[in-house]
Amino acid sequence: MQKYNMIITQLFKKKISLFSVNLWLVISVLLLTITPVHAVKNDLKKLLPPLQIHPLPITLNQWQNSNNQGDYFEQIKPTLDGYLIWSEFPIKVYFDRPSNPDDTAAVTRRFNQWVTAVEQAITEWNIYLSMIEVSDPNLADIIIKRNDPPLDKNINPETGQLQIPRARTAQTRYEFYIKNKQLFHQMTIQISPRLGELSLLSAARHELGHALGIWGHSLQETDALYFSQVGNPPPISPRDINTLKKIYEQPTRLGWPLPSQS
Ligand SMILES: [Zn+2]
Repeated sequence: MQKYNMIITQLFKKKISLFSVNLWLVISVLLLTITPVHAVKNDLKKLLPPLQIHPLPITLNQWQNSNNQGDYFEQIKPTLDGYLIWSEFPIKVYFDRPSNPDDTAAVTRRFNQWVTAVEQAITEWNIYLSMIEVSDPNLADIIIKRNDPPLDKNINPETGQLQIPRARTAQTRYEFYIKNKQLFHQMTIQISPRLGELSLLSAARHELGHALGIWGHSLQETDALYFSQVGNPPPISPRDINTLKKIYEQPTRLGWPLPSQS
């Protein structure tokens, strides 16, 4: 039962992080779960809303890429619940703020820099999907925290030894929940306070891209969702938006009512 619960938890909670592609972990999780997951998935599917397509948000509908620069949609992974699509706008975003923003102490100045980067990233994406800041994290669709993402404990499958995890600077994870008999998701982003000003903005931009639904990485370093950090971080690219638009044209169980149980 413990294992069963673990599998369900894995199906419903996932995270993605910059610099954290750990194939061994992915492979071992797959091996561990391949057989029972199929049965669990089929049972769960009956309880979940059927996959359906939401109307394309006006902001994305307006987006036309005249040069046809393509996308990296093939890199995006749907979940058990389909694509991670928001269907109620504006999307409610909570992010940490210092309790005393006018304080001139270095700690507070650093905190304010972090806030500025997050606000900037929200402003940039807001053109394509509208967002609004909320002051209560309990009411938020996306929560952005100023702390270090947790370290994953990885076991090397060959040696059985615990590997020393790599420190991460940013991570996004999701959880599903049910409210008013409808299926929803909540995204939590963690961005390290240790990041420098430029990296803060690129991390916030990148992670917010994940939280808005780009659950995967680009293989081109000119895209904000490139899988690694680069020296000169790019702005949101036409390919990022082409990908986002394509995602929002896909079916999802999120935002739809649960089937009535007879
Ligand atoms: Zn990423």
